Amino acid sequence: MSEKTYPRVIIDLKKLRNNIDAIIGRCNAVGIDVAGVTKCVSSLPEVARQFEEGGAKFIASSRINQLQRLKDAGIKTPLMLIRIPMLSEVERTVELADVSLVSEVPLIGALDRAAQRAGRKHGVILMDDLGDLREGFWDQGQLIDAAVLVEEAPGLELMGIGTNLGCYGSVLATPDKLEELVRDAEAIEDKIGRHLKYISGGATSSIPRILEGNMPSRINMLRIGEGIIVARDLIELYDYKMDYMETTVSNLQAEVIEVKVKPTHPVGEIGYDAFRRQPEYVDRGMRKRAIVAVGKIDYSFETGLTPLDEGVEVIGASSDHTLLDIEDAKRDIKVGDILEFNLDYGALVFLTQTSEVAVETV
Ligand SMILES: *Cc1c(COP(=O)(O)O)cnc(C)c1O
Repeated sequence: MSEKTYPRVIIDLKKLRNNIDAIIGRCNAVGIDVAGVTKCVSSLPEVARQFEEGGAKFIASSRINQLQRLKDAGIKTPLMLIRIPMLSEVERTVELADVSLVSEVPLIGALDRAAQRAGRKHGVILMDDLGDLREGFWDQGQLIDAAVLVEEAPGLELMGIGTNLGCYGSVLATPDKLEELVRDAEAIEDKIGRHLKYISGGATSSIPRILEGNMPSRINMLRIGEGIIVARDLIELYDYKMDYMETTVSNLQAEVIEVKVKPTHPVGEIGYDAFRRQPEYVDRGMRKRAIVAVGKIDYSFETGLTPLDEGVEVIGASSDHTLLDIEDAKRDIKVGDILEFNLDYGALVFLTQTSEVAVETV
């Protein structure tokens, strides 16, 4: 008999499907196809399958190994590589991805040769940097020249252009920014003399354009991860009212390994913590606390964990331990109990890509 192991991430596929239907439905209603971005759950095939059944036109990840995982699991929806491919992975890109995002001329040549060798057509979406300053062409002339190159490459199909906003530069996907993307697409269309199939207008941070009804009409693809799988940023950071979304798709279960009443302020001379920081400690007297067996190695920042138990508070963490104040907890928490936490995007990314943490779908 094998024991159930902790820590464990539980992904509720019904709640996930609710969110997939809610967002894909709203996108489709205004002519937008959705690429379901599964990188925040290490492209767990069960999650991809929900996107597949929910009508996603592509399943997308930043990592080629995750696309392999999806292929191996029998996902049939076209796969998209959304981190611009490395020159050293063009063979695998052409083998595993139907389409990739591209921003470099040398890569265009390498992808074309690899696609021709493999006897395939590889789809290309050229990236246009509108000011977020991550990937993409900055110069419109260079973007147009690259489009002509892709158009003429026998192994490639120019599927369109896209942009990424709200990742490095925190730039908002305003109607103006997306109109700029449409203008760049139309400049390419003038040059190559045909219509582009896709104008890919960003990620979760572009969903507000649909909610507010001001998405430029030619934007016809979004690549969405957080806004469906986690669904907290637009609601919590930008105050959008989306009561039709489930915000607890993924929870962490962790096991209590110590329960004691202790002082709240460390006792002794204060230096640095395990991560070279000097935190502020507030003296709240003696309080009951618990340790759960999960730590920063598993989820990175403890701020990504929200206890589901009322009256439980995360007060700190080290590599392998998470410390909780349970003085005001509504139930009697004991060693061996399992506590649950809702996860933000960052915590979910880390927790689902380590073999130390079990992942279960229900
Ligand atoms: C991660 C990523 C996305 C999805 O972003 P979300 O904020 O999770 O919706 C879309 N496009 C690119 C290029 C990405 O890297």
